[in-house]
Amino acid sequence: MTIKKNEYTVLYIEDNPANLRLVSQLLGRRDDINMLSAEEPLLGLELALEHEPDLILLDINLPGINGFEVLKHLRQRDTTRDKPVIAVSANAMPKDVKKGLDAGFNDYVTKPIDVKALLLTVEKHLLNAHEK
Ligand code: MN
Repeated sequence: MTIKKNEYTVLYIEDNPANLRLVSQLLGRRDDINMLSAEEPLLGLELALEHEPDLILLDINLPGINGFEVLKHLRQRDTTRDKPVIAVSANAMPKDVKKGLDAGFNDYVTKPIDVKALLLTVEKHLLNAHEK
């Protein structure tokens, strides 16, 4: 597969600076990914609308409105309705994962973040996006 520069745009909405830094570094080092991030959900929604990212990583516990509400907004907009949204959450019980998937998240990554699991999940959804 030929890798083009900034082929994908990934947005991460996360209020925890350590997680934001980790994921931004991991994905930002790939030259086919243009990494965007927001620490605040409303800013995240604005960036999603403006940049139409290929993939959105979304924390559940956010200040103001939570990840479920953010997901609802994303699903209500034409430009982001069909984009893959992956929950990234410390709520790691099986019932939490089920609740997330039932709510419409395309995948669910638990914290503390397992780097390999995160990269595999991101890769899977970016390849899917590429095929569309
Ligand atoms: Mn949080």
